[in-house]
Amino acid sequence: MQTADSKTIETIEAQNKAPRGIRDILPEESWKWAYVLSVTAQTMADFGYSEVYLPIFEHTELFSRGVGDATDIVEKEMYTFVDRGGRSVTLRPEATAGMVRAALEHGLCEQNMSSKLWCWGPMFRYERPQKGRYRQFYQFDAECLGLAGPVADVEIIALSAEIFRRLGLRNLEVVANSVGCPKCRPQYRKVLVDYFTSKKSSLCETCLGRLDRNPLRVLDCKVPECSAVADSAPAIYEHLCDECAAHFEEVKAGLARLNFPYKLDKRLVRGLDYYTKTAYEILSGELGAQNAVCGGGRYDNLAESIGGPHLPGVGFAAGFDRVVLVMEQQGNSFGERPRTEVYVAAQDEAARGAVQILTHKLRREGISAEQDAGDALRGARSFKAQMKSANKIGAAWTCIVGADELAKGSVTVKNMTTGEQNLVAEEEVANYIRRHEARLI
Ligand code: AMP
Repeated sequence: MQTADSKTIETIEAQNKAPRGIRDILPEESWKWAYVLSVTAQTMADFGYSEVYLPIFEHTELFSRGVGDATDIVEKEMYTFVDRGGRSVTLRPEATAGMVRAALEHGLCEQNMSSKLWCWGPMFRYERPQKGRYRQFYQFDAECLGLAGPVADVEIIALSAEIFRRLGLRNLEVVANSVGCPKCRPQYRKVLVDYFTSKKSSLCETCLGRLDRNPLRVLDCKVPECSAVADSAPAIYEHLCDECAAHFEEVKAGLARLNFPYKLDKRLVRGLDYYTKTAYEILSGELGAQNAVCGGGRYDNLAESIGGPHLPGVGFAAGFDRVVLVMEQQGNSFGERPRTEVYVAAQDEAARGAVQILTHKLRREGISAEQDAGDALRGARSFKAQMKSANKIGAAWTCIVGADELAKGSVTVKNMTTGEQNLVAEEEVANYIRRHEARLI
């Protein structure tokens, strides 16, 4: 039986842990994220995309109307709450709806202008946590708004693939489909419902429910029996209207022009209602069940569904957490981990003040520096212990200040790789280090 005490302990333990499916990105990993972000930002800029910072929560309606009421995301996965003013708000489960809302609100696509925008940040979905699937996860996201032609679709697919190429990701597969438009989808939907109804006895409970509300989602059910039925289902690209068929042909021709390998996947429908025409995903062989590193496509009716004017758009969202995971598994480079360049050590107590001043000066010069900040609790560290710290943090240089140095207004600068050391005038230390580092490069 649980006593009151053990309950209290449980509560305290729960308070001291992040909620389920939520994780901290600690220094061991965060520098890798910074690298992925810098490569992403550069690639976005090379393709003409400008960064925007979007809010993390929006009115709930934006997602229920934009993403779609009958989607898993809106039905089961949103973090929705009522704020103190009585409004229903939702932590964003994805970025596209917010991006389109922002573009409309600020008139970024008025008078036939197009906008190429990108953003990154946390998204929130109440999903079952597992490897590569979290309740707070990060995406980087590019949206090309105001362009209806297939060139924009090809550019978006190429942009996502180029980011992955620069990050060195291997064994990726691009899969593409067209999900049609409100003109041709109802007809296809009917063909599909007829087909699935004839196979009803093989479908899972969830798919039986989907048959009425969202039959296209039966196509990507992972239950083996449903999957077998879906494999033989009629393909949407055989039921496209002329406009969607021509668009899809042009997208395929564009991909071929760029020598871009991809596979058609008639079962690719994606979990968000707003897609029209092109839909695609990039899959990694490294990730197991959660194998998509990126998903995207065209959403020409999203702006209207959230109450705006007609505004075509095409975009993608890539899973930051999963990209880092794949890169770690493939042993890819994340560039060089930033390290502290200089450790400033005091040989005796009298030198502590000078160490504090020199450390601050180096930092102001843009040279990363560390010192012993021992306090009353831990005690100031001995000179030997300070040198150990210098080694532990992998400092390239140590600046040593003792009685001799103080008397001469100088510092002993030690190269930690070669062991060579020189007495350098205090005001020259930053220049000395910079000169030597430049020679090393
Ligand atoms: P979506 O917005 O569902 O199209 O997802 C786009 C990409 O975000 C996916 O391909 C994944 O890489 C990533 N992603 C989606 N959901 C999660 C999650 N719960 N945890 C981690 N990454 C996710």
